Amino acid sequence: MSEELICITCPLGCHLTIERKGDDELLVSGNRCPRGVKYANEELLSPKRMVTATARVLRLPQESQADSLGLVARLPVRSTGAYPKETVGDLLQAIYALEVPVPVKRGTVLISNFKGSGVDVIASRTLLE
Ligand code: SF4
Repeated sequence: MSEELICITCPLGCHLTIERKGDDELLVSGNRCPRGVKYANEELLSPKRMVTATARVLRLPQESQADSLGLVARLPVRSTGAYPKETVGDLLQAIYALEVPVPVKRGTVLISNFKGSGVDVIASRTLLE
């Protein structure tokens, strides 16, 4: 039984037809270039996703905010590369456990090389206070 995918590597959006030959071999047709085969293999055999989320921001409590414990906002963050889809939950848990002190600059690495994946998590924006 064949599977269908649309290659999103370029705007042509080729309609790929894929047949599995064993556990880790695919027969791909419908692609206009070799990148379609690569896309099908990545998507069906080891899917990855870019990750975007928000992290808790740790502010120094000011007198007027004394009862807020200094935790008042969230910072948009993103992965620097695609992370294996099946364990994205682990990465999200690590992001949600962060407490990012401000000020923080856009691009600051908040998590480095998560679980040896080569993927970092960085601040998506600058937050001065
Ligand atoms: S198979 Fe090649 S030409 Fe077709 S959408 Fe993918 S990258 Fe573009």
